[in-house]
Amino acid sequence: MKEFELIKRYFAEQSITRKDVILGIGDDCAVILPAERQHIAITTDTLVAGVHFPLNTSARAIGHKVVAVSLSDLAAMGAEPAWLSLAITLPEISESWAADFSAGVFELCEFYNVQLIGGDTTQGPLSVTVTAQGYTPTDKFLTRSGAKVGDWLFVTENIGDAALALQYLQGQLDVEEVHRASIQTKLDFPKPRILAGQVLRDYASAAIDISDGLAADLSHICTASNVGASLVLDKLPISTALRESLPLMDAYKLALTGGDDYELLFTVAADNRVAMETALATTGVKITCIGQLDSSNKIKTLFNDESVCFDLQGFEHFSDK
Ligand code: ADP
Ligand code: MG
Repeated sequence: MKEFELIKRYFAEQSITRKDVILGIGDDCAVILPAERQHIAITTDTLVAGVHFPLNTSARAIGHKVVAVSLSDLAAMGAEPAWLSLAITLPEISESWAADFSAGVFELCEFYNVQLIGGDTTQGPLSVTVTAQGYTPTDKFLTRSGAKVGDWLFVTENIGDAALALQYLQGQLDVEEVHRASIQTKLDFPKPRILAGQVLRDYASAAIDISDGLAADLSHICTASNVGASLVLDKLPISTALRESLPLMDAYKLALTGGDDYELLFTVAADNRVAMETALATTGVKITCIGQLDSSNKIKTLFNDESVCFDLQGFEHFSDK
């Protein structure tokens, strides 16, 4: 099968056809007619085999994940996703790989009403790149830089399971059989918190999605907003799987330094907290308050109301400040 037939069969046919797409796949460019008086948020992510996912990851999981990580960036800005472009580099043309991969891509496209509008297909070591674009209302989007001293720090759902799955796959620790499937799903099929991000537009002062580990991503908010934070370890939302696989402090450390969670980390002014909690309850996404921002320009960790010293990789950049 030729490259063009592969594109036609596995990528050009899709169930989502948006009104704002004038020309989709098939010409030299896609052409869109964006809604009036909206901003467009744009983000690109690449996943390289053996670097960003284990070599034996299923094609469907790779398709899902590359879309999910890009949509997660849109979620962190409070954007509503609209269009995707997809560049794939494959060692060889494989129909079964393309079929499974595109199923992973399209299951998220269908869920979020996102149209694949173009891309590129080349030969080489396996890697996939997605550019995702989405709408935000004029001058109403979330950034990393709006956090203020005194704001509360929140995170969606649980953190650390994807890192736990990766360490298990790499043979660095053992996980009881009952927990293996759920953590593998967290690693392979992350859920972008699109709806939560859009709700947070009205309440949060800053937001980021957790891709490099909570500690590193919190340091990005702190640097951009020129604040520090105290992080309450006892409050960190971790799964039973993680709790039962490691001693407690090691579990917290993995939750803070492991990557691939794709949960939202956000800050909210004390005055907005109750309204935010009420609004987010309608999304069904769990949120947990895990700390508060201060003027220290450092990230402190607390356990049982006492300061604990935690060696967290990912803090180097922040401490250079
Ligand atoms: P060109 O050489 O003009 O860049 P291509 O032959 O690379 O065009 O692509 C033909 C069409 O197929 C274009 O519309 C392009 O956007 C689309 N396309 C190529 N690869 C992919 C892909 N992996 N996913 C989606 N669309 C793709
Ligand atoms: Mg061309």
